[in-house]
Amino acid sequence: MKYRKMGSLPWEVSALGFGCMRLPSKGLLRGVNEKYAIEIIRHGIDRGINYVDTAWLYHMGHSERVLGLALKDGYRNKVRVATKLPMILVRGEDAFDKYLDQQLVRLQTDHIDVYLFHMLDQGQFAKLKRLNLMDKMEKARSQGKILHVGFSFHDTLPVFKEVVDFCKWDMAQIQYNYMDTAIQATTDGLRYAHQKGIAVVIMEPVKGGQLANPPAEAMEVISRAPVSRTPVDWALQFLWNLPEVSCVLSGMGSMKMVDENCSSADASGVGSLSAGENKVIEELAEVYRKKIVVPCTACGYCMPCPFGVDIPQNFALLNNKAFGKSGALSGRVTQWMITRNYRKLAKSKQQLAARGNKGRATLCTRCNACVPKCPQHIRIPQELEKVKAAFS
Ligand code: SF4
Ligand code: SF4
Repeated sequence: MKYRKMGSLPWEVSALGFGCMRLPSKGLLRGVNEKYAIEIIRHGIDRGINYVDTAWLYHMGHSERVLGLALKDGYRNKVRVATKLPMILVRGEDAFDKYLDQQLVRLQTDHIDVYLFHMLDQGQFAKLKRLNLMDKMEKARSQGKILHVGFSFHDTLPVFKEVVDFCKWDMAQIQYNYMDTAIQATTDGLRYAHQKGIAVVIMEPVKGGQLANPPAEAMEVISRAPVSRTPVDWALQFLWNLPEVSCVLSGMGSMKMVDENCSSADASGVGSLSAGENKVIEELAEVYRKKIVVPCTACGYCMPCPFGVDIPQNFALLNNKAFGKSGALSGRVTQWMITRNYRKLAKSKQQLAARGNKGRATLCTRCNACVPKCPQHIRIPQELEKVKAAFS
């Protein structure tokens, strides 16, 4: 494992962080396969990961609990733990202590190493200021319940700079990957935070898995590259090449992913990519920008839909349909499989129970309950119309 500077903090962070948002799941409603999740988290730590990231909202509350179990038997002392105040659920200033105290219990620890305000955008930032939540944060720090202070972010560059300038942050967590250099915090924001000594931790390095499953045109770019890498490795090395990046979080759901990503991190370094390799990444970004229909990262924050629509799955199928595959026959087979997967989704209330509440876009009533929860600001009901049209 390679280790990198964590902004101005006096410790180094592993290049790869374990994101506990996409733990191996089983059953309905993103339940966690606990035994396997604990196994892979511990394996990642054994391979050198020293930073684990979770949140109140992940896996509908089970991520923190399972991480707490994984960190027993001496593993807690080997890592820094980051978790987050669920800003979208905060209604009053008392909420800060209420959530933090429960998180300490869930995680079976006496302190959180890095505590973040989760999903700051303009609205949540206004709430943070209105409820004086930074005072609460500082009080918790003085009590030793948290050690470092940060935020995760989903809005535009001007808002990002406003948040960065608001107080002395230890870290900022941003969505950044080779496709998203000009949206959300952007490259300018990454540099801005870094210049201020703030550790920048990256989320969505493979854009919710989209960069791991390239369309045919992207695979052609990869096959012509001067170095042989997997699609995921290209995406990760792009980030580790940058001096402004402290740690890259990956939501890992299998032992294979942990091993592959740890091996990628072992081979990483600032400025390690050649001009030719950087050119490959530019070409890949260009291909993806032309292909993606809906920029859904499958974070699941919009779920559950009260009418049973499996929102991320519908968008994934739409994007996959647009990506296609090379070759006339394989293209037709791929399209047939994607359509078949859409048809496996429930199309009626009666089918929802039997199919694990995984419903088609056609079940959307346009109630708009999901819209404010989406960090990508996707107009979900309108975009679901595209899914309906594509699979009608
Ligand atoms: S707008 Fe549609 S997808 Fe969103 S919560 Fe309402 S029914 Fe579900
Ligand atoms: S629609 Fe938005 S909130 Fe829902 S999974 Fe996609 S990115 Fe996440």
